[in-house]
This record gives sequence, structure tokens and C-alpha cells, in this order.
Amino acid sequence: MSLVTGVFSIECSNCGTKRDFTPSDVDFEVASSTEEPMGTQTGYQWEETIECEECEKEIGIEYSVYEYPEGAFDMDEVKIKGGKELSRFGYEFHDAPERDEDDSDESDFDSEDFDEEDFKTK
Ligand SMILES: [Zn+2]
Repeated sequence: MSLVTGVFSIECSNCGTKRDFTPSDVDFEVASSTEEPMGTQTGYQWEETIECEECEKEIGIEYSVYEYPEGAFDMDEVKIKGGKELSRFGYEFHDAPERDEDDSDESDFDSEDFDEEDFKTK
């Protein structure tokens, strides 16, 4: 399960080599949780520094996504140092990483491979 869908592509600003990231390449974590008038705004963040496969220059990626209100896309922000963004992920907030809240009793029943919601929507 992953917060993101599709492909995130960047280009090295030094040599122009393209690099693709799929949802399994990235690891978004809950970075912020703020109470707002319509509910909770949750910020997810992924940071990574890679080396260009071609010229070995460092490329720094800082990717933030905000969910607000719950289940809805609010905004995203991508900062790339040494590279250029070509395409961005799509988002699936029902697959987002769990927020650490006080409902620890329910987490015992988490099934990783079985997602009931997937069946209902088909
Ligand atoms: Zn390069």
C-alpha cells in the first residue's frame, strides 16, 4: 500500500538524464498533523538524496503532500536541488501511512495484504 500512485520523474540539471520513481521507491512519512476548522490537516514528507546515474552529481529531493480535510488532497510541494521535475505522483489518501493516534487497540487487527476497501469499490 502506498500513499502515491503513478510515476514521479526528474531530470538531472547537469546532464539531463531522466530518473523515474515508482511508489515502491519512495517512503513518505507523516510529518505534521494540524487541527483545522474542517478537521485534521496531515502533512506527508519524503526526502532523499540520490546520485545521478550518468554524471554522479547529487540530486536532493524534498517532496511534501498535504491531506485536508481527511481523505482529500490539499496541496503538494516538490523541491529538487540539482534537478528538474518532469512529472508528479498522484495520491491515494486511504493508503496513507497510519497516523500515530490513541486508537492502539485497533492496530492489532491491521491486515497488511487484505484491504476491504478495494473490494467494495469494484
Ligand atoms: Zn547527471
